[in-house]
Amino acid sequence: MDGTVVVTGGSRGIGAAVVHALAARGVRTCFSYNTHREAADVVAATAADLGTETIAVQADVSVEADVRRLFSAAERLGPITGLVNNAGVTAAQSKVVDLEVARIRRLLDVNVVGAFLCAREAVKRMTGSGGGTIVNVSSRAAVLGSAGEYVDYAASKAAVDALTVGLAQEVAADGIRVAGVRPGLIRTDIHASSGEPGRVERLQKQVPLGRGGEASEVAEAVVWLLSDAASYVTGTTLDVSGGR
Ligand code: NAP
Repeated sequence: MDGTVVVTGGSRGIGAAVVHALAARGVRTCFSYNTHREAADVVAATAADLGTETIAVQADVSVEADVRRLFSAAERLGPITGLVNNAGVTAAQSKVVDLEVARIRRLLDVNVVGAFLCAREAVKRMTGSGGGTIVNVSSRAAVLGSAGEYVDYAASKAAVDALTVGLAQEVAADGIRVAGVRPGLIRTDIHASSGEPGRVERLQKQVPLGRGGEASEVAEAVVWLLSDAASYVTGTTLDVSGGR
């Protein structure tokens, strides 16, 4: 894999695992973090220990100026050939009937507007310069609906799936592939952020493979989609969910 890969939300969880997996393969990354500077420093240092150039940039993906700054920083490492649209948030578990508008807007701003802004900046740079690959991190929630937990989050991820399908068709002729992954129950801090740190343990009995997944297992799927091994894969989203 040549060039530089931009990974959003690389300070923790799945994004951090993607940065590590790419660094281990010698792929340069420019990753964003939003609030966890110290965690980002640890990820960057670990990647540097692997001998691969990696930089961390503070950027809220829902803020257009931040996204532009992230891509400008990434270009300093070399031509951008990959984007992993990973940054995402959930919110406190709640039924639709109780949702407040500010929370719905924040979820859509980060998970949908952020993904669109980053995809736009990536396409601008990949078009006419040899192409590239965009991998969108969706969720099985997009299909399951997340009733009683966060239907707004599920809807945001369904929008990400539509971005994958539509954008793939728009940019295929430019040599740009767009694909996605739909993680299932993965052991990261995101569940604590929605108020239930033990969510994976509660629900893992529903998983045919009988356990929650690890961030590294999602990262391997992302790396494959980015790679030339997936050269005929575009416009589709891969479930990485243990069968649930
Ligand atoms: P996580 O552990 O909570 O990490 C989230 C990452 O996103 C952090 O690096 C965070 O940065 C970053 N982030 C949050 N808001 C941001 C913003 N506005 N701008 C830029 N970065 C932002 O979550 P995760 O579980 O790894 O989730 C990663 C992706 O996988 C998300 O899109 C999530 O929806 C999806 N997913 C996760 C699961 C799961 O079970 N874990 C399942 C399905 C889908 P800071 O820490 O620096 O703020």
